[in-house]
Amino acid sequence: MSFTLFIPLVALLSTAFFRFVPMLGGDFWKNRKVQPSTNASRSEYLYFLSSLAVFTMVGFVLDKVDLPAQEVFRISLLKSLLIFVVYDLYFYLTHRLLHTPFLDRAIHRIHHRYENPDALSSFAFHPMEGVIQIAVFIPLAMLFQPSVIVVQLLISLLLFLSVYGHCGYELRARKIPALDIFTTSIFHNLHHTERAKNFGIFLVFWDKLFRTISPSYSQLRSKFRKKLN
Ligand SMILES: [Zn+2]
Ligand SMILES: [Zn+2]
Repeated sequence: MSFTLFIPLVALLSTAFFRFVPMLGGDFWKNRKVQPSTNASRSEYLYFLSSLAVFTMVGFVLDKVDLPAQEVFRISLLKSLLIFVVYDLYFYLTHRLLHTPFLDRAIHRIHHRYENPDALSSFAFHPMEGVIQIAVFIPLAMLFQPSVIVVQLLISLLLFLSVYGHCGYELRARKIPALDIFTTSIFHNLHHTERAKNFGIFLVFWDKLFRTISPSYSQLRSKFRKKLN
């Protein structure tokens, strides 16, 4: 499938999953609720649709990059890890830049209108933010020359975890210490209330390194774990 279709489709499916599946109810979702549900506003729908348009355009350009159809598995794995870490640092740094006064006023404050985010808020942002988040895969693909499937997997991971971070349900509350290096829904939820904390997307590492991790994070996570275990 072309990236032109693939990127907006994955964004749409990830959002639909976290928006509609919890509506089926049951203890699983009820016990994992991080915050009360909100009704999505008209502006959220409009910004969401504009992000889908941006993703389509980025996909169109990405389709023009000549990538290998397949490659040796261990090479794919190595490139995936490299791009994952480079992208994660890129996201952390650009997100911090977006919180500087000028860029916050011009771009990022739209996304922060939603202090109590939901699945739809994930992509409710200024079109420029969509470009910043996704278009970087064009130079990354040109530089690392990963196979198409690697780019598809990484973009899917980014989009799915972006929605998970905003959906209002914590799916990783049970204690598996090895997974603590990755962010959770509670982690990004805190970013929407404590704006100067928790800038990361995949890994908690950069926020720990640059001391921007919210002091409430481990406390909240432990509270949630106790409730579930
Ligand atoms: Zn932010
Ligand atoms: Zn957010």
